[in-house]
Amino acid sequence: VAKQKAPEKWVRSTCGYCGVGCGLYIGVKDGKPTYTKGDPAHPVNMGTLCPKGLSEHEMVQSSNRYTKPMIRKNGQLVESTWDEAFKTTSDKFKEIQAKHGNGAVSVVSTGQLLTEEFYTLGKFVQLGLKTNNYDGNTTLCMASAVMGYKQTFGSDGPVGCYEDFSYADTIMLIGANIADNHPILKLHIAKNKKITGKKPKIIVIDPRFSKTAKMADIFVPIKPRSDLALMNGLCHIILEQGWENEKFINERTTGYKEFRKHIMANYSPAEVAITTGIEVKELYELARVYAKSPAAMSAWTMGVNQSSLGTDTVSAICNLALITGNLGRKGATALSITGQCNAMGTRETGFTSSIPGYRNFASSYDREEYATIVNVPVEDVPQKRGYSYPQIIDAIEAGEIKALWLVATNPLVSFPDQKKLRRALNKLELLVVQDAFKSETAFKADVVFSASTWSEKEGTYTNSERRCNRAKKAVEPLGQTKSDFDIVLEFSKYFEGVNERLYPNWEKPIDAFNEWKKVSEGRLCDYTGMTYELIEELGGIQWPCNTANPKGTPRLYSEDMPCPTPDGKAKLLALDWLPMSEPQNSSFPLILNTGRTVEQWHTRTKTKTISILNDLAPEAWIEINPQDALKLEVKSGDRLDISSIRGKIKDIIVRESQNVREGNIFVPFHYNEQLINTITKAEFDPKSFEPNYKQCAVQLHSIKVP
Ligand code: SF4
Repeated sequence: VAKQKAPEKWVRSTCGYCGVGCGLYIGVKDGKPTYTKGDPAHPVNMGTLCPKGLSEHEMVQSSNRYTKPMIRKNGQLVESTWDEAFKTTSDKFKEIQAKHGNGAVSVVSTGQLLTEEFYTLGKFVQLGLKTNNYDGNTTLCMASAVMGYKQTFGSDGPVGCYEDFSYADTIMLIGANIADNHPILKLHIAKNKKITGKKPKIIVIDPRFSKTAKMADIFVPIKPRSDLALMNGLCHIILEQGWENEKFINERTTGYKEFRKHIMANYSPAEVAITTGIEVKELYELARVYAKSPAAMSAWTMGVNQSSLGTDTVSAICNLALITGNLGRKGATALSITGQCNAMGTRETGFTSSIPGYRNFASSYDREEYATIVNVPVEDVPQKRGYSYPQIIDAIEAGEIKALWLVATNPLVSFPDQKKLRRALNKLELLVVQDAFKSETAFKADVVFSASTWSEKEGTYTNSERRCNRAKKAVEPLGQTKSDFDIVLEFSKYFEGVNERLYPNWEKPIDAFNEWKKVSEGRLCDYTGMTYELIEELGGIQWPCNTANPKGTPRLYSEDMPCPTPDGKAKLLALDWLPMSEPQNSSFPLILNTGRTVEQWHTRTKTKTISILNDLAPEAWIEINPQDALKLEVKSGDRLDISSIRGKIKDIIVRESQNVREGNIFVPFHYNEQLINTITKAEFDPKSFEPNYKQCAVQLHSIKVP
């Protein structure tokens, strides 16, 4: 630690970027965070941090922060008081709801608040504003994992844990570039040999030879969007060869007969080889390695989720685990890795596709139980899910929804098909953006609720392995910013009787946490055994945590834990692959894949002013196969424009690389300056509503030629 920065105190907390959930210490000097270092005692990261975590303190003092609430006057955003911002917004919400119905006000939240804040916000939206048109931006990244888990196991909830990486004999990473996106997970793989005495077989399935692929024993350069066919093909070979686990199938699953018939009739190795581009003998080798491992795990992230086949691909991965009995044991699992630091918090507390505690809208029992716990009339609890995030945008464009309240999300960089999004936002009567950072979307807002951020507020984050971690306040909020918890609590006072009814005597996030614990009681995401003190003492606790599991539960659905389905069994599902809806054609001969880089975070609202990160990754680039570069007569360092049928982006630097197959290119999505979502397609998974960000047909243009 440089002498001038030597902290006066260290506050133990959790990283606020990604879903890995690393434990860290925040160094504080003169009331400001000046240093971040890994927590050696934390079981997730064992003292290490990635570049974003190591520079996280710089984000807090960023020049890209709002310090006061803002209101648009005469076309300009100007500073306001909190009272003016809350009054303007509440008056307009009431006017719109009186004229057009409660559903004309919509809310899109995030995966970056604290669980206490999600619970408080969700309660206000559902039971205060009484609109069911709310969703999380998490629909853009992990909704397919939610719906896939639901249709296979009866509930959302990642079934495994990071420790499984250290015990598996085979680790199959599917559409998961963990080296860039979840780098600390590599530590758990590195521990494997020490624990098991032998190196695990690492299989990486990805159309692009990513940094993660460098770790692979078997790299599977699959054709874009053919993972579902691959999973079905592997199941076919396993069943054909008699490598399945009959006892597990009989005792722990349903649907086997129909599943087997479907797979054997429709997914022969020869057909799957054509669909996936993987040779038949390689398919047999893959199936053998996976099925013959005493413990095999699969893990996936956006490469699987961000697809119009995302939900069914998740279930197809689970099918493979189920027929081989790879569930609920050390190293035997099917683990979805989430993106944002508290995507799990929003899933559990019901800000996406359920009532808090993974309750179902359609179940009168669930609605009544929730209403009783929170002491509201059951009629107030939504009876059905309203519009998902993409449907909210459609409904705004159609004139049905008149107001949008965005919380810590920046669709003007992250949403696909930007032209369509801009058309919709221009139709709004009121756009409210609640954010700590000056995002592209906040610049368009009518009102900005300026929020405080990580290290300035108090609560918990739950990571990808269901581990609830403490995030502690180390410094006072910047300027006049308020925590998202305080914003919701104070805003609710502008609606008659709402604050008293929903938040009686609430003052601090612990009040929300205590009520959330009651709401979670008896549910899969049971928090009742947790206290802030115990969470900190144990380095996080994995739910369910209750009297039966006082220190938490590393794995779901072990032998003595039934699935939350009517018969307690997991479902084997007969699922079908479909070809891309926008394949290459003569006008757009290349397939665009979008993704991330380790140095940047999402739309860069948090990272764009951190010099170390920007020096390492200052702009977007086009990764192109040398053969394609040759055909286009371009080389690394040249600059090109990219177009799809939806628009054009100018001036992006070329990087020739064997990492992408011929006919494919890759561009990271973080950069507003080269806004790749101008040209991505607004096509969504019909079950999860997650966008298909990963494949659309594009053309490259030399910018030297007009
Ligand atoms: Fe933070 Fe994720 Fe990096 Fe860990 S891996 S330090 S949680 S960004």
